[in-house]
Amino acid sequence: MALRNIVTEGDPILRKKCREVDEVTDRIRMILDDMVDTMHDADGVGLAAPQVGIMRRMFVAEPEPEQIYYFVNPKILSQEGEEEGDEGCLSVPEMIGTVVRPTKITIEGLDRDGHSRVYTFEGFAARVMCHEYDHLDGILYPDKALKMYHVEDQPEQEETEEA
Ligand code: ZN
Repeated sequence: MALRNIVTEGDPILRKKCREVDEVTDRIRMILDDMVDTMHDADGVGLAAPQVGIMRRMFVAEPEPEQIYYFVNPKILSQEGEEEGDEGCLSVPEMIGTVVRPTKITIEGLDRDGHSRVYTFEGFAARVMCHEYDHLDGILYPDKALKMYHVEDQPEQEETEEA
């Protein structure tokens, strides 16, 4: 297990478009495993490679406890609906923003073993996947947020997850 440093907003790495992964090698698997450890350590529900300084198109996500998804070279095949919701980002500490995301997406990508997978996600899980996918194109959620709050000023009492 190895934890990696999470880069934060202001670092130009977060604003670059990531390149595709050529092949899911042992080295890629090691990075993905480190990303899961880093996500757990930071109490997040998702982490994209550029957030740990790696400019490759891959992310990990755990929208529900112990349901870990690995996406390498993901593509969003379809999306439908719109809903507003609050989200946070491990790279934008202490902030929360309200963002419109699709209610449902279908996404394809390679898993940790390099096998092609297609999943359909709804609601919160769809939000997490869209948030992570945006990281691969250098997009941070504040770019899309309708409004932003400091965590201490969030109107609702419930805790917002970070990804
Ligand atoms: Zn994020």
